[in-house]
Amino acid sequence: MPVLPIVRLGHPSLRTPAQPLPPALLARPEIQGLIDSMVETMRDARGVGLAAPQVGEELQIFVYQAAGPPEIPLRVVVNPLVTPQAREVAYDWEGCLSIPDLRGLVPRHPRVRVQGLDREGHPLDYVVMGFEARIVQHEYDHLNGVVFLDRMRDFKTLAYFDEWEQYLGGRSPQDLDDTAVG
Ligand SMILES: [Zn+2]
Repeated sequence: MPVLPIVRLGHPSLRTPAQPLPPALLARPEIQGLIDSMVETMRDARGVGLAAPQVGEELQIFVYQAAGPPEIPLRVVVNPLVTPQAREVAYDWEGCLSIPDLRGLVPRHPRVRVQGLDREGHPLDYVVMGFEARIVQHEYDHLNGVVFLDRMRDFKTLAYFDEWEQYLGGRSPQDLDDTAVG
């Protein structure tokens, strides 16, 4: 499946609420092909998540996967509803494949419930925590025209990658997979 171009901030797809996918269309080759291409594109870009609007498709589909640790197996989520399971928030670093090179501290709920459909149309209903909950909220935001910059509470933590690594993140390159980039 082809790797797709990832659209960047300024592209209208990133600011347009995505449409639900009629479940009857899920089995269509063009939709299954789009999902395969999204997975390939995410892996090629070394991201841990990708939402359909990031490849210019305004549909409610996102994919995610992380090599870890903690390893997060590949998930495909269609027509999701993501609900916080706790009032508190936790801060951690995020980046976005559609906002290349920037990192910032973003508050997210540490535990969320995910409901939706998998790529075969089977219902999904599960609870995720920590890093996986962060990825899910980042990708879910993309389906609502929201990017991580909108969630930041203090732009003083916004930094280019090299400067972040040198001055803010304090992490070695092999630990960079810990940063949610979707
Ligand atoms: Zn993103």
